[in-house]
Amino acid sequence: MMPNWICCNSCFHPPAADRRLAVTTCGHIICQNCFQKGKQGECLICKAQCQVSPLTDKSGPEVKGPLL
Ligand SMILES: [Zn+2]
Ligand SMILES: [Zn+2]
Repeated sequence: MMPNWICCNSCFHPPAADRRLAVTTCGHIICQNCFQKGKQGECLICKAQCQVSPLTDKSGPEVKGPLL
C-alpha cells in the first residue's frame, strides 16, 4: 500500500513545485534535486542501474513508461 505522505528517500523533503518526485525502477522515490546530484541511470539510494519515471498527482504509484 502506498502511504499518502510521500517524500524523497534521499533528502526526505516532500514534493514541491520545484522539487518533483520521481520513482525509480528499483522502487525508490527520489526528488529531482537529488536525482540531479546522482549519476545518470543510477539510483542514488541503492546504486542500482535504474530508470526514473516522474511521479505526478495523476499517476500516483502507477507510472507509465520510463522517462529521463
Ligand atoms: Zn531529495
Ligand atoms: Zn534504488
